[in-house]
Amino acid sequence: DGGQGGDIILIADEGLGSLLDFRYVRSYRAQSGAHGKGKNQHGKSGSDLILPVPVGTLIKDEETGELIKDLCKPGERVVVAEGGLGGKGNAHFASSARQAPRFAQEGQKGCERWITLELKLLADVGVIGLPNSGKSTLVSRVSAARPKIADYPFTTLVPSLGVVSYSDHKTFVIADIPGLIEGAHEGSGLGTTFLRHIERTSVLIHLLDGSQVSSKSPLRDFEMINDELKSFNPALAETPQVVAVNKMDLPESKEIYSHIRERFKKMGKEIFPLSAVTGEGVKPLIAHVVHLLPKGKK
Ligand code: GDP
Ligand code: MG
Repeated sequence: DGGQGGDIILIADEGLGSLLDFRYVRSYRAQSGAHGKGKNQHGKSGSDLILPVPVGTLIKDEETGELIKDLCKPGERVVVAEGGLGGKGNAHFASSARQAPRFAQEGQKGCERWITLELKLLADVGVIGLPNSGKSTLVSRVSAARPKIADYPFTTLVPSLGVVSYSDHKTFVIADIPGLIEGAHEGSGLGTTFLRHIERTSVLIHLLDGSQVSSKSPLRDFEMINDELKSFNPALAETPQVVAVNKMDLPESKEIYSHIRERFKKMGKEIFPLSAVTGEGVKPLIAHVVHLLPKGKK
């Protein structure tokens, strides 16, 4: 008899943060079963191909769009393509009248299909702040790869997503959360679809535009954004926030920076000055963010 073909199995792996690997290799094949041999020897079964994917990966049939599996728990697995059954050797068809039949049953072909992988868990780190504070610029500055994002109905407010690599093979996913201030919790603007994804983030970077902050009320924008967060979801307001002051390359920002720092210091908050354009100050910010990520991510 021939051996059975290997299965293709996807398994949810906590150590993975993105589907990046699948951008480069798109076609996978499990091992074939070996042929049977003379003297009634069975062929070996092919080994399964096990592919790790991040926890939170939705697996869909590409043709029908049907959801095959939502791999939401670490270690969960699903067979996405079964190997074919091995053939039956001629010994199966032997009888007293026909001791060495010249026919046998062929092995079956394995399953072949296209599937779509979609990562539900969008971001470990969210960037919030007023429009034009530099969220998109910061995301593109810190991330090497920018995966394509699913369609959002409000195309003018496309959130940017990036994968940040911060030490050997370690990555986290960062997303800019645009349009937060525009009544998002009421479902207008960007809507709650996207906001729902930041409920899962473990750290928020709160970006202020250093050149726009008024010296009279440097905390106004900061509080406004936080009020918006709270009305959307009070729990979200509890997510650790790192305050960063952007556009430090501009003279206006430099002028007022010490004032901003003092005000935050009174609240017991450290702030991170940076320029998303020149890249200055970005490294210390990312190091601090990494420090705040949950253990599993570090
Ligand atoms: P977002 O609306 O928060 O995503 O802001 P953008 O990233 O689109 O940036 C808004 C504007 O600010 C753009 O014109 C950027 O080029 C500019 N900008 C962003 N970061 C910096 C910075 O560090 N320095 C300066 N001078 N301009 C910046
Ligand atoms: Mg933007």
